[in-house]
Amino acid sequence: MIHFDKSIELIHDLKIESYKTKKLYLLDALGYVLAEDIVADHNSPEYPTSAMDGYAVRAEDLKRGQLMLSSINPAGSDPADRVREGHCIKTFTGSLMPEGSDTLIPIENVTAENGLIVINEEVPKGFSVRAIGENYAKGDLLIPKGTRIDIAQIGVMASLNIVTPLVFEKPTVSILSTGSELLELGEIQNSDAQIRSSNNYILEAIVRKYDGLPMQLGCIKDDKESITSSIAAAMEQSDIVVTTGGVSVGDFDFVKDVIRELGCEVIFKGVRVKPGQHIMVARRGDKFIVGLPGFAYSSTVTALLYVVPLIARLQQGKCPLHRVKATLREPFIKRAKKAEFTACNLSLVDGEYLVDFEGKKVGTSAILSNMLGDIALLVTSEEDSDKEAGEKVSVLLLD
Ligand code: AMP
Ligand code: MG
Repeated sequence: MIHFDKSIELIHDLKIESYKTKKLYLLDALGYVLAEDIVADHNSPEYPTSAMDGYAVRAEDLKRGQLMLSSINPAGSDPADRVREGHCIKTFTGSLMPEGSDTLIPIENVTAENGLIVINEEVPKGFSVRAIGENYAKGDLLIPKGTRIDIAQIGVMASLNIVTPLVFEKPTVSILSTGSELLELGEIQNSDAQIRSSNNYILEAIVRKYDGLPMQLGCIKDDKESITSSIAAAMEQSDIVVTTGGVSVGDFDFVKDVIRELGCEVIFKGVRVKPGQHIMVARRGDKFIVGLPGFAYSSTVTALLYVVPLIARLQQGKCPLHRVKATLREPFIKRAKKAEFTACNLSLVDGEYLVDFEGKKVGTSAILSNMLGDIALLVTSEEDSDKEAGEKVSVLLLD
């Protein structure tokens, strides 16, 4: 079994030969990773522009106390007139500043009467004028390739008239759970030996939430032939295949053998991590297969640790899960000489993350309900020992 850090390094260092890209209508690109640099092809604004409703003036004229109103300059029209000495032009938010003017005196600062404005309160030169390129200048690299498209990227690309940005295709992720004891959602139970599968559904949710395209293949029995044909078919139709169960050392744990027999190159099998030590990651060309353990908490945590970054890697994105420092509100007992990922309650108090374990059960890796609530995963390494209340620890945020 390898050190946890080594397993993460192996995922990080995977060589990926080719990426699939496509063009998408701007709004449909939300949540995709950009496959091109977005560079400004113009200045924003292109001309000095008014940022308020008021009067375009020459700053040096303000001390005159009153100015003649020459014309009106609405937003959306080219200014017809220029500001002459001793004059002003009524100008609005978004109007181009008329030639000759350098300052906008807001409506609130003047009294307008009989074709004149009286200046009640002066403003400094350049007031409320948006300079050329204030927002961005032509040639600026605004959004680098590899950025996940979120709300601000949509808005900035819209202002650049980018109708169909080039994005990386989201990897398709086939999900299948193995285990002869498993019941699918809604399936009738007829023996106490059966359990309801949660793994394939939580995995589908993880893939969906973290930017993959899930393909739900359901549950299959611990039968080597059907496992082989299901995984082989899944590899044909997807970029990543994720299985649960069957990677441990039991008589019916066929998945680990099937992965090898299908000609996959094993990247690692077995990590000193709790939960999830039997995890297996393999590849065949640019297709990946991740064999997760069967226990519900194990498969969930290991999916977050390995499948989520793999989904990001296949579209040149960054892993969306982050670690932060937090303070323990109660002691933590280190249970294994492995990297451990322990469900904890996370709160943010006065800007500080605090961690406790109230209501969290200690037991096997089957306890998925430990993941309910405002949780994060407390991360300790195999070199760590018990921790005391007040100590700083690292936690993996799930949002
Ligand atoms: P395995 O890794 O196949 O030995 O499974 C380990 C444990 O996880 C067993 O108790 C299984 O019943 C349970 N398990 C396996 N698959 C699932 C699943 N899809 N959903 C929930 N629990 C599961
Ligand atoms: Mg099993």
